[in-house]
Amino acid sequence: MQEIKNTPTRIPRSKHTFSRRNMSPAALNVLYQLHKAGYQAFLVGGGVRDILLGRIPKDFDVVTNALPEQIRSLFRSCHLIGRRFVLAHVRLNKEIVEVATFRAHHDKGSGGGMMEDGRIVRDNVYGSTVDDDAWRRDFTINALYYDISDFSLLDYAEGMTDLREGVIRLIGKPEQRYKEDPVRMLRAIRFAAKLNFTIAPSTIEPIPKLADLLADIPPARLFEEVLKLFLSGHAVESFVQLRQYGLFKQLFPYTEACLDDPVSLALIEQGLHITDKRTAGNKPVTPAFLLATLLWPVLSRSFPDQHVKGINRQEMLLEASQQTLAKQQKYVTIPRRISVLIQEIWLLQVRLTRQRRGKRFLNVIEHPRFRAGYDFLVLRANTGEEKMLEFSQWWTQYLTDNKSNQELSQKTSSKKHPRRKQKSKQA
Ligand code: ATP
Ligand code: MG
Repeated sequence: MQEIKNTPTRIPRSKHTFSRRNMSPAALNVLYQLHKAGYQAFLVGGGVRDILLGRIPKDFDVVTNALPEQIRSLFRSCHLIGRRFVLAHVRLNKEIVEVATFRAHHDKGSGGGMMEDGRIVRDNVYGSTVDDDAWRRDFTINALYYDISDFSLLDYAEGMTDLREGVIRLIGKPEQRYKEDPVRMLRAIRFAAKLNFTIAPSTIEPIPKLADLLADIPPARLFEEVLKLFLSGHAVESFVQLRQYGLFKQLFPYTEACLDDPVSLALIEQGLHITDKRTAGNKPVTPAFLLATLLWPVLSRSFPDQHVKGINRQEMLLEASQQTLAKQQKYVTIPRRISVLIQEIWLLQVRLTRQRRGKRFLNVIEHPRFRAGYDFLVLRANTGEEKMLEFSQWWTQYLTDNKSNQELSQKTSSKKHPRRKQKSKQA
């Protein structure tokens, strides 16, 4: 078990490779301003970890001994957010830096913390020192602190060794730490997939047994985690490992039940692969396309693929799609702005596969989601839905022959939904 050391290893500036030049100017500015005002200030978490690994951090998290109100009075544009975990969002030059007051372990402080059956439901026990704060961090590689006062690094839990050796290791007793916050199970997989690290045996071992604790997590928080798992460029690897340790079925139980069917599995694997390729190429990826893919096998099982006389397929599909989304929402929230798009992609599957291809049929090209619908049709055709091949080839040919139409439809579909920056919060 990896304990937190009472006295961290302090690595002086001359002995480490972390450089301020790799931080965003806004994060650096926040650190300096806190320091100038007489507070302690550290960069912690992914910002330190990723820079040490030569990667570009997604965001920068700052911790300080200043209390939320004191942080607020120091910066011109600053909002306090969250209840479960109060945080200051400092906005500088359009960038947001998250600033948190040191937290302490729950048995140390009093007042702001709340536990229910070993689970942290509120985490506002302020600690007075950075030593206190290190206890609540999840993994050793996330408990490295960069001290703006002398540019040294503080290593509380042999994080530098794990970083070098490529290991994801929980701090403290794994079972207890997962019970405090089951989302840490998803985070272990996410970091392993993202960094291509291995998970320490003691950290992975309890996961299958504790996976069902995710049922206690609000579906809205799981939605944020799902986006991070599947839209950060490592969706395929995350999917494989989530399934391997029994976590995927906690998030998408109905999808999991379809995965014995090779066509469904291929659709999802290929959909995730395309998502990763787009991320690698800096192309936008939309939660709607991802979720439309993950839930298509569930939907298509409740919808006959044959044309049934006298039945309006569009209406049937609409009803089936509403049911599919409603059952999934009990596990992972899908905000309305996204579920509307998912349904559009699904409903386009009927419009794109009509037998008669007259003028009315071609109107579908004006649909704002035409491109996503077409891409989805191609994905289905290429992953084993053979009946779709003819349609996908027909459309591909049509689009090649009518390039100007194609450009028009691309413009409309990309304009409507720019990628939204997702950010969820800590435990
Ligand atoms: P990334 O931003 O790349 O997803 P990160 O490690 O910075 O990775 P954040 O969610 O931004 O992750 O959290 C910042 C830091 O807060 C983490 O590095 C970790 O120290 C701590 N943290 C976040 N979530 C938890 C949690 N559920 N339990 C314990 N510590 C957490
Ligand atoms: Mg972060």
